[in-house]
Amino acid sequence: MMVQNSKIVIKGMGLTELQTWCESVGETSFRGIQLYEWMYKKGVERADKMLNISQKFRNYLDEHAILSTLELELATQSKLEETIKYLFRLKDNQFIETVSMVQENRHTVCISSQIGCNVDCDFCATGKMGFIRNLSIGEIVDQLIYVRNNVESPITNVVFMGMGEPFLNYDRVIKSAGIFHNPRGFNLGKHRITISTAGILPKIKQFIDEEQKYKLAISLNASNDDVRDNIMPINKKWNIRQIIKEGKRFSSLKRRQVMFEYVLMKGINDSIENAIELASLLNGVDCKLNIIPYNESDGVYQRPTEKSLNDFLNILHANQNGYRILVRWSKGQDIEAGCGQLIYKEKFATDIN
Ligand code: SAH
Ligand code: SF4
Repeated sequence: MMVQNSKIVIKGMGLTELQTWCESVGETSFRGIQLYEWMYKKGVERADKMLNISQKFRNYLDEHAILSTLELELATQSKLEETIKYLFRLKDNQFIETVSMVQENRHTVCISSQIGCNVDCDFCATGKMGFIRNLSIGEIVDQLIYVRNNVESPITNVVFMGMGEPFLNYDRVIKSAGIFHNPRGFNLGKHRITISTAGILPKIKQFIDEEQKYKLAISLNASNDDVRDNIMPINKKWNIRQIIKEGKRFSSLKRRQVMFEYVLMKGINDSIENAIELASLLNGVDCKLNIIPYNESDGVYQRPTEKSLNDFLNILHANQNGYRILVRWSKGQDIEAGCGQLIYKEKFATDIN
């Protein structure tokens, strides 16, 4: 049980946990169901608004429980699209970012699972921050609650593609996804929840063995181990062959296709040879291939030219067998809200103080 300033953090608790907690403080277990719905289905963050709960218990909640884990520090709206980047302050004065993207009938929210990341992919701004700590379930869920309470379009999809490596905070990420999926919570379909991993092999295996029904995305980002070793040091531990093997297993057991993400970077992994290699690597693999043109941040990596992107795609299409190709242009480029651009910058702090 998480305690902060002698209060109990109930945001993030699952249904049974809330029921047990209610009983332990002299309430019925039914109160636990009511609390679950007030917090996750209705997004209410103050006890005095929980109208079907007795005044006595509302007072108790006020005094003893924490119902909200983050505070908005800054919201930046893109001028180009319906994309908003939120910077949240946590109770320990750390910061995380969340991105809301609305496009036609789709509202996708990209959420963070850790503060920083220690997987250390060379091209990723979050990786450059280093690792600070894992987020709690409450902090993960509150990102979605905030967006739902503040953006009119109903949320249709949630992706664990913000800051951090979700599979290094596995249990909390899975429990948060459970709250998103639960009909008494967010009631989002299981295929509307995607978890993206850099390739933490034992956790991918666990995810498959546990028959988790959420969508799985794996960041491949290279067509051979030499390149992947260089840009993603984690490849030295778990290589391309191993992650593709598990990806295949996921596709075959779940009748859901695994998605491989491939961030295209100029002069790194965007050559004709790389395209041919990638096509043969995925030959006959039941998967989706998501090509993401690199979003530039402060580092040395660059987005490929339009021509090399097209040449690359042409080769993939010509050799296509078993996989589907999608190109994902990140939203919110003008506000640094794209994939891999999430980093809490010191300059924010000076801008707003
Ligand atoms: N840690 C997880 C999820 C967060 S990153 C993972 O690595 O999968 C989400 C996606 O953004 C990953 O596919 C990653 O390879 C990609 N990415 C990282 N930096 C990027 C950048 N600057 N431009 C485009 N995509 C980037
Ligand atoms: Fe971490 Fe993903 Fe960035 Fe790699 S790409 S450093 S795993 S957030």
